[in-house]
Amino acid sequence: MQSLRFKAIDNLTSGNHEVNVEGSAKITSIFGENVFTLKTARDFLSDDAYKSLLGSIKTGQKIDRHVANQIAAGMRQWAEKKGVTHYTHWFQPLTGTSAEKHDSFFTLKGDGTPLDQFEGDALVQQEPDASSFPSGGLRATFEARGYTAWDPTSPAFIMHIGQGMTLCIPTIFVSYTGESLDYKAPLIKSIEALNKSAVEVCHYFDRNVTKVHVNLGWEQEYFVVDEGLANARPDLVMTGRTVFGHTPAKGQQLEDHYFGSIPERVYAYMRDFEYEAYRLGIPLRTRHNEVAPAQFECAPIFEELNLAVDHNTLLMDVMSRVAKRHKLKVLLHEKPFAGINGSGKHNNWSMGTDTGVNLLAPGKTPKTNLMFLAFFVNTIKAVHDHADLLRASIASAGNDHRLGANEAPPAIISAYIGHYLNKVLEEIETRVSDKFDEQDEVMLKLDIHKSIPELLLDNTDRNRTSPFAFTGNKFEFRAVGSSANCANGMLILNTIMAETLANFKKEVDALIEKGDKKEVAIMQVIKTYIKESKKVLFEGDGYSEEWTKEAAKRGLPNLKTTPIALDPLVSDKAKKLFEKHNVYTHSELEARHEIELEKYLKIVQIEGRVIGDLAGNHILPASIRYQNMLINNIKGLKDIGVPEKSYKAQLNILEEISEHINKVQALAFEMTEARKKANALTDTREKAIAYCDKVKPYFDEIRYHVDKLELLVDDSEWELPKYRELLFLR
Ligand code: ADP
Ligand code: MG
Repeated sequence: MQSLRFKAIDNLTSGNHEVNVEGSAKITSIFGENVFTLKTARDFLSDDAYKSLLGSIKTGQKIDRHVANQIAAGMRQWAEKKGVTHYTHWFQPLTGTSAEKHDSFFTLKGDGTPLDQFEGDALVQQEPDASSFPSGGLRATFEARGYTAWDPTSPAFIMHIGQGMTLCIPTIFVSYTGESLDYKAPLIKSIEALNKSAVEVCHYFDRNVTKVHVNLGWEQEYFVVDEGLANARPDLVMTGRTVFGHTPAKGQQLEDHYFGSIPERVYAYMRDFEYEAYRLGIPLRTRHNEVAPAQFECAPIFEELNLAVDHNTLLMDVMSRVAKRHKLKVLLHEKPFAGINGSGKHNNWSMGTDTGVNLLAPGKTPKTNLMFLAFFVNTIKAVHDHADLLRASIASAGNDHRLGANEAPPAIISAYIGHYLNKVLEEIETRVSDKFDEQDEVMLKLDIHKSIPELLLDNTDRNRTSPFAFTGNKFEFRAVGSSANCANGMLILNTIMAETLANFKKEVDALIEKGDKKEVAIMQVIKTYIKESKKVLFEGDGYSEEWTKEAAKRGLPNLKTTPIALDPLVSDKAKKLFEKHNVYTHSELEARHEIELEKYLKIVQIEGRVIGDLAGNHILPASIRYQNMLINNIKGLKDIGVPEKSYKAQLNILEEISEHINKVQALAFEMTEARKKANALTDTREKAIAYCDKVKPYFDEIRYHVDKLELLVDDSEWELPKYRELLFLR
């Protein structure tokens, strides 16, 4: 029987994968056409209903039942006009993907007449059967109820799935007793916490500020491979990454893929998912190749954080669906292939006021410069004080392969701010005297605005190896994993920033009370913060061995594996912090910690099983078949009297193969034993650590021998598509 590998290669080269792509329409003419935008709402809602929706979006005003009915009716009318028959509450449970439960508008009246209906109650709240979503023990099984509640700040949209269309209502997901079970609820709370602290600090500079919002622009990296080839790799199907595979002769060393022309088949795929994205109001802006072969990136224009997170989650879903249409598979895993770059999701984060000021953009006057400096230095201080929480926010089984690996941020959290701003901070530290007086106000001019060209230069030549980099008017959190929900990192960043700003305000106020002039007080606290947090600043090569040593000397944490990196989430410090800012209760934090640990250990467990299965059912049989071929060959030569020195090569290969076969078998057995031991542990953290330290090390050991076998065994006997095929055939 021909193996799947060769069938896939045949299919691929026969080229029957052409797809017609619709996306020739002008973007502006289709943008947001499947979104219930405010403009659409204006057309479909009464004045009262529209005003109420607007009030809810702008100021969080409650929508009463009667009005909710009107909004629901308007939404249904709009959706039905487009051919929609079903609706769903769309939410983001802690599995990491989005979830839906579709209900139809169709219902029966008491007398049996059919009726299409969508009432306010159905819009506002639903009770999906939630018992199998992760809850970290928050929902006892007897009380399995979870509720989804409408989030009016993120507009409803229509999702096309095959021929069907569904009205999706973005919602938060909470337990019966109100604990959050998703990413969105705490994210919204963290945005509110940051708003509160930031507005107060803004008031030192501008009393007109009443709201500070948070922006996110994400950059999504991904791999694209042929679907047939991917399906012939059980490891890709089950885990999203290849657990075996010898490095191809050509990898990324030529760097010829980066910014090269996009392969045609992938280009058609990109245009197709972009078309879907535009109709869903996702403002994609850039697309390009990444460094590794078959790796790409897309990025939208930044948006308000909550919406940006929804859009990223939605796009990951759209990308996977559209790929199917093109007989491609998109890999969002952080490290689908060993030996070449992994994928990240850079999170560009900034804060803006309702007066139109980006708080992370250097200003044009001394006053706005001081405001910039305050927010800038507070961010550094937040990263310094809570680096452990930021690290925890990006910890996952997938990201463990990537952090510290080839071309990726290390597990040490540091911040890069560029040469110019480093000098500014140094000057403040050395020149602002303790008796800072008005004469020193010259300092405040700082001339940052005049140095903008210099700043830009700094940022174009910026350090790509830093996990947290200032890039001109925003910070870029680069350590986020490509498959992660952005909310996790962002909500922690918001919360530590809220905390730092609140303390800043307290300290400045105290100095003012003692008689300092406002600007002087602010400058003094900024100076203290620079002193206290400068050890987190690093401008050098974050991937280097020296940095790891230097960071250790500086006392910066370097938590390499997820089970340990998650610990800070449940420290007393973290519990107080999240409670104070009303983002997580203690039990919510403990539940999250538990869920993340469980997610981790389940992934490693599944990978272990896949490795065992593949070794047993694919690798060893193919290797033994080839071993037999060699034995027959040797026997035959011997039978006809050929001297042994003439088949020395065969004997050598046979010996080598036999050795690797033995090793694979023995190691797979040992790994199973280690898994059994780990499974016997009852404490989730201990179990996760056992999987990490006792089971996972076998993965690489087994892989070493399997990859050697791949080089030795007859290519036609090898059933798993090889790296060269996955990465270069399309
Ligand atoms: P790159 O990092 O690849 O050079 P850019 O810096 O141009 O790309 O932009 C990356 C992302 O940052 C985009 O999504 C962009 O919209 C976003 N971005 C730009 N300015 C801001 C800002 N002030 N706040 C948040 N995100 C921003
Ligand atoms: Mg970037």
